[in-house]
Amino acid sequence: MTSIPNQSKGHPKGLYVLFATEMWERFNYYGMRAILVLFMTKALLFDKAFASNLYGSYTGLVYLTPLIGGYIADRYWGNKKSIITGGLMMALGEFVLFFCAAFHNTNAQLSTFLFFTGLGLMIAGNGFFKPNISSLVGQLYPKGDKRSDAAYTIFYMGINVGGALGPIVCGFLGENVDFKWAFFAGGVAMLLGVLVQILFQKKYVVAPDGKELGLVPAGTPKAALNPLVIGVGLAAFSALMIGLFYIDAKVFSFLTYLLVASVLFIAFVIFSDKSLGNIEKQRIGVIFIVAFFVIFFWSAFEQAGASLTFFAAEQTQRDLGFITVPASVFASLNSIFVVSFAPIFAWLWIKLGKNEPASPTKMALGLFLLALGYLWIAFGVKDVSSSVKVSMMWLIGMYALHTCGELCLSPIGLSLVNKLAPLKFGSLLMAVWFLANAAANKFAGILSSLYPPGTAEIKQAADAGINLQPILSKTVVPNAQELAKLKDLKIPFEYQSILGFQINSLYEFFMMFVVMAGIASLILFAITKKLQKMMHQDILD
Ligand code: GLN
Repeated sequence: MTSIPNQSKGHPKGLYVLFATEMWERFNYYGMRAILVLFMTKALLFDKAFASNLYGSYTGLVYLTPLIGGYIADRYWGNKKSIITGGLMMALGEFVLFFCAAFHNTNAQLSTFLFFTGLGLMIAGNGFFKPNISSLVGQLYPKGDKRSDAAYTIFYMGINVGGALGPIVCGFLGENVDFKWAFFAGGVAMLLGVLVQILFQKKYVVAPDGKELGLVPAGTPKAALNPLVIGVGLAAFSALMIGLFYIDAKVFSFLTYLLVASVLFIAFVIFSDKSLGNIEKQRIGVIFIVAFFVIFFWSAFEQAGASLTFFAAEQTQRDLGFITVPASVFASLNSIFVVSFAPIFAWLWIKLGKNEPASPTKMALGLFLLALGYLWIAFGVKDVSSSVKVSMMWLIGMYALHTCGELCLSPIGLSLVNKLAPLKFGSLLMAVWFLANAAANKFAGILSSLYPPGTAEIKQAADAGINLQPILSKTVVPNAQELAKLKDLKIPFEYQSILGFQINSLYEFFMMFVVMAGIASLILFAITKKLQKMMHQDILD
């Protein structure tokens, strides 16, 4: 190893520049996400099922664009240019949403247009930002430097400091003042992130040899850096994202098919490669299998920004006497718990030493803890009428268990892909990982749309002079006039079904996740040994 000063002890200052940039970006993303479904249902007056599906389309696409942003950075722009461009696009998205919220009462059509435009810009911007900031973290260290694992842990803290602050600040502003100020705060936070990059990147975000990182790659064609080409390209890309988002949310839900087709295509490309040996194929098989299982984890986990926010808003007693906690603030609990529990988990794995569970076992454990979290909250709402608000401890306990699950499962994913993928297919298999995350988020929206009609709908119907309860329980059939009114007001008057099971209550809704994550966990536990064999660890070490 070279004897570069300040490399063996502590961390390079650049890590803290990236920490701060990512913290502000996550503040912007999670702050906005925390109020998104509330803004849709309370201000834009979308029904919950539509808002849920739209949430899935949005977050699904958010996890898809990093594939494109990563590719463009590698070939043409480098990390720095991509991060700044992506950050500015997201900030612009937030400010467009600010105007959307400002106009929703006076000009509904303009407001809807701004809504899709703002979120589309955030989808496009995230694609340039997210993959590039993460990749810079690793580049701060010489290859094989032991500090880089710790660096990612510190960086993950940055993510979660932002993830905790965003929903608290945006939640209070959005729910207690006006939604528009929540979007505004998100935009300002994103600009602060960009500012940190602009001011400190050049000086501190440097390679171990002192060279600036994230520069435009050598050999980039001049045209790719021409401001006119960039401007037109970004406008076209944003328009495409806005369009795709609009189509998936409102016209025809194609995203699931696109994701499945992409994964099958990649599997075909890889497995039909004649140069791959049997062992390599088995290892790649593990990546596909594990990616499939994490879909069940994240789709249940990401209910945080959708059904669980509805639950916080409608069914949770949030009045502390001196203050009412905004529903969106519950979205910060996961991040608060990550920051609090991560050191405990790190200690635990070290303490277990040789007995530390293998990666697939940890993932199965993650799914199990997630199922346990839903079991906890299902217990909290069992036999509770939809007009009663339950204690906050049900949501708090559930988020604590979910976070323990995340800390078992989440850190393993990317490192497993890195370890198991043959060099030749490294990027394609990373893409599979992102596609699985995108599918999980899309699926989260679909599952959230099964949220049963409850207090809010019963009250809304009562205001319109209709008694919804007997209609929901099918003891009374609505007459033609009532039916028309319910449809007109977009009040759901039927429970949804999944795989032939009707979700009649919140208890059944939460039990759906217990069953889904529980079964996935059991299967993963059962095949752990087989997966470990397929990983051929002995040759890796
Ligand atoms: N909370 C983490 C982040 O925002 C991880 C989320 C995920 O991997 N789905 O980066």
